[in-house]
Amino acid sequence: MNILVQKFGGTSVESYEKMIKVSEIIKEYKEKGYDLVVVVSAMGRKGAPYATDTLIQLCKEINEEPSLRELDLIMSCGEIISGTLLVNTLKNIGIDSVLLTGAQAGIITDGKYGDSTVIDISPIRIHDELSSGKVVIVTGFQGITKKGEVTTLGRGGSDTSAVIIGKGIKAKTVEIYTDVDGIMTADPKIEPNAKIIKNINYDEVFQMAEKGAKVIHPRAVEIAKNSNIVLKIKNTLNPKEGTNICSYTLTDIDSYRVNEKKLMTAIAHKNDIIQVMIKNCKEDIFTDILNEMKKNGISIDMINFFVKEKAFTIDSNKLKILKNILDSYKLEYNLIENCSKVTLIGSRITGIPGVMVKIVRALSKKDIKILQTSDSHMTISCLINEKDLKYAVNALHEEFNLFEE
Ligand code: ADP
Ligand code: ASP
Ligand code: MG
Repeated sequence: MNILVQKFGGTSVESYEKMIKVSEIIKEYKEKGYDLVVVVSAMGRKGAPYATDTLIQLCKEINEEPSLRELDLIMSCGEIISGTLLVNTLKNIGIDSVLLTGAQAGIITDGKYGDSTVIDISPIRIHDELSSGKVVIVTGFQGITKKGEVTTLGRGGSDTSAVIIGKGIKAKTVEIYTDVDGIMTADPKIEPNAKIIKNINYDEVFQMAEKGAKVIHPRAVEIAKNSNIVLKIKNTLNPKEGTNICSYTLTDIDSYRVNEKKLMTAIAHKNDIIQVMIKNCKEDIFTDILNEMKKNGISIDMINFFVKEKAFTIDSNKLKILKNILDSYKLEYNLIENCSKVTLIGSRITGIPGVMVKIVRALSKKDIKILQTSDSHMTISCLINEKDLKYAVNALHEEFNLFEE
């Protein structure tokens, strides 16, 4: 069997015209002799009638904090709608297909509403349908617990569904179709000179995804790496080569190292961040605060300790709960709202001096204030004001020559 998993994201299935493009791609691969499993997302992005955000909003109009169990049920409908329409679009061009929900496809989750982890896949039904010659369409973003509860896999989770299915049916490759030509050196919506990266390793893409590059979900990259599945990112409207994500050999990295011009691979960014600066807070109190935050599901991202201050960042949607916690301890604190985190990613930065100097130089030339920094063996992040985001990405993209082939 020549099995291939293809995943089509929200913009790829947002209209009948786009569904026709999708069905042409499916037809092409079917005619090449592939056994196809096709994972779909809900139709369109925010504002579209059957998009995941619209379904969430429907609930939130009735109750700002809707029941999480039922929220997962309504969210799972988005992918059922798009999958149903795709089956019928394929029928129009004579391709026999069947739609399976996450549950019917055998995707078993741990049961955490809104952010489940897949703990098992039992693709018996997928295999049965493939053997009968059908294209198998599977709703992304959802699974079922052993007890029968429908849960979703976290926003952007259809990528993970595709890779989990790939792992379950032992596919060598999973293709992710989206609205850009591949993984690029920065978000093309912000950086006009962003270039397609033809080959990139799992670790770099994982870091990009973790640091906000939406083009693929980090969990999908992690599972692909562990299962040795090659990921290909392609544009539904321009399905050329795109980006291959696999493992690099050390020699490849060494040859890159020599070329200092290509020190960095890409820039990612994340918005809606708040910097919190707590003043004169003793360590034991701070430990209590961290515990309270953990209990309330607030995760800390960047964190720095100074003698008199402790600075950290959180997602802006957690501000209300955080304020309640800090106020209950009667602490003095400052907030900087509307921040963005810009991150440079590159496997080759370990041990190479002068990277920070280049960052500070590029940003200060544009009068961009760095509010906080953090780094790891392959990333350097700067917290900045959101109003400076585009200028910062543009300046760093140029400083690190990411626009060059
Ligand atoms: P889909 O609906 O297909 O899952 P997403 O919106 O989740 O699509 O991801 C695709 C989007 O990711 C692109 O439209 C692009 O704006 C954004 N993006 C952010 N960073 C990058 C990057 N480095 N390369 C390509 N796309 C990126
Ligand atoms: N429809 C879901 C979302 O919008 C899953 C996905 O698109 O990957 O988050
Ligand atoms: Mg996506």
